[in-house]
Amino acid sequence: MLKIAIQAKGRLNEQSIELLANAGITVADSKRKLISQADGFPMEVLYLRDDDIPQAVAMGVADLGIVGQNEVAEKEQPVREVMGLGFGECRISLAIPKSDEYPSLEYFNGKRVATSYPVILKRFFNDKGISADIHRIEGSVEIAPSIGMADAIFDIVSSGATLRSNGLVEVEKVFESQAVLIANEHLSEEKLSELARLTFRFKSIIESQDMKYVLMNLPKAQLERAIEILPGMRSPTVLPLAQEGWCSIHAVIAKERLWDTVHQLKSIGAEGILVLALENMIR
Ligand code: ATP
Ligand code: ZN
Repeated sequence: MLKIAIQAKGRLNEQSIELLANAGITVADSKRKLISQADGFPMEVLYLRDDDIPQAVAMGVADLGIVGQNEVAEKEQPVREVMGLGFGECRISLAIPKSDEYPSLEYFNGKRVATSYPVILKRFFNDKGISADIHRIEGSVEIAPSIGMADAIFDIVSSGATLRSNGLVEVEKVFESQAVLIANEHLSEEKLSELARLTFRFKSIIESQDMKYVLMNLPKAQLERAIEILPGMRSPTVLPLAQEGWCSIHAVIAKERLWDTVHQLKSIGAEGILVLALENMIR
């Protein structure tokens, strides 16, 4: 039976539980629990702080974990990154006081930089030949410059609003992150095959999140043109309609191409276009 570690509470907790639920795996929520048995899959769930997940997986306390790539990179534990999970997106960036000029990375030579990610930052500065003074702080990194603890920061940025309200400006995007599934490097054959079943489910869920299912009515005479417009998985499904000279087309379309495609289809005479959410796409 697989043991998976997820964040007990915080930004990744809910979406981790939701991903498992979409994969048919029901887990108790984590209040006052450290470990629980899942329903719908032979699996136990361990609820940990995200900082502890890479190590728990490296040691084999858990076989799998769901955690930010940023934590995996920072902790430098030997684990296998199995797949990106498409949530928890963020970036870690260097930010400096708004009032400062920023000529280039050279700016950071000799500067004090506060961060909760000293390992990632040190690697970056080493790569770029910058010699700065890295201060590790937990918690509110973004206030460090205003209280005189640092000249600049290296921190997680999502919208940039927190930076702005602290008089800082993002100058270098260093690390892009999302939640990932990680695995212990020495799983047994049996666990590997359970993992394959799990990643099969995760992949079909993640893939379907970027897709829509579209149906419409179309004059038969326009069928060839519609097929050219629709990218489809192979080719669209075409069904006859009771009305002479018309057919119904069904196709799967990537979200980002949806509106362009819909406009093109309308312009060749498509009617009654329905766009539906796609729950699962099993290849
Ligand atoms: P824990 O109590 O488990 O140690 P934490 O406070 O370290 O939690 P959270 O703030 O819950 O961590 O963030 C967990 C992860 O969510 C981060 O490591 C990062 O991968 C991701 N994340 C996505 N967007 C953001 C964001 N705007 N700020 C912080 N983390 C984010
Ligand atoms: Zn943490």
